Amino acid sequence: MTKRIPVVEKILSVNDRLALENQARFDSAGVLALNFMASPGAGKTALIEQTVKGLQGQVRIGMINGDIATSLDADRAQAAGATAIQINTGGDCHLDAVMVQSALAQLDLTALDLVIIENVGNLVCPAEFKLGTHRSVLVASLPEGDDKPYKYPGMYRGVDVVVINKIDLLPYVPFRMDFFKKGIEVLNPGVTQFELSCRTGEGIPAWLAWLEKQVREFKES
Ligand code: MG
Ligand code: ZN
Repeated sequence: MTKRIPVVEKILSVNDRLALENQARFDSAGVLALNFMASPGAGKTALIEQTVKGLQGQVRIGMINGDIATSLDADRAQAAGATAIQINTGGDCHLDAVMVQSALAQLDLTALDLVIIENVGNLVCPAEFKLGTHRSVLVASLPEGDDKPYKYPGMYRGVDVVVINKIDLLPYVPFRMDFFKKGIEVLNPGVTQFELSCRTGEGIPAWLAWLEKQVREFKES
């Protein structure tokens, strides 16, 4: 035990240092960077598709996709009109700052306003590795169940935004919105929240308006 703790701290501090380097690159290019986290199947890629389509002609979006295998999600983002870079983690269950740094080498930030990093689907360790992004966005969805804030407090506590996706399924799945939101409120009081459906488009305009404002204000700052 006495040996293990310092090793973990050292690894995290190297990651933190690289994350700061990544952030400096985003900052100097005036590019807002988001870290999308979620469990598998919550709809991160679907939300990215809606975002790319919805902000077409207004915001130039680049996407870095982290998956254990395949480039399926990067292909979807590219098809929607984003510049997409795929990172295959080869088994790792989260992205880290080194992986993002290598992806940034392939991305022309001067041609972009916004970079969305789609993390590996996992509600545990992605929250522990800084990437150098300005905001972290948790995509939750109704079929996962309303107990997730209680079961994964580390994830819900650390994020800047919670997007609740698949609200069109509310009549069909056992999901108590009040209970879910109470859990969020305890861990992360006042966190920005959106309720939407990537399938029906309900709630998407409010998300797009918020994001467009974030990008604009970041450029002006
Ligand atoms: Mg995905
Ligand atoms: Zn992991």
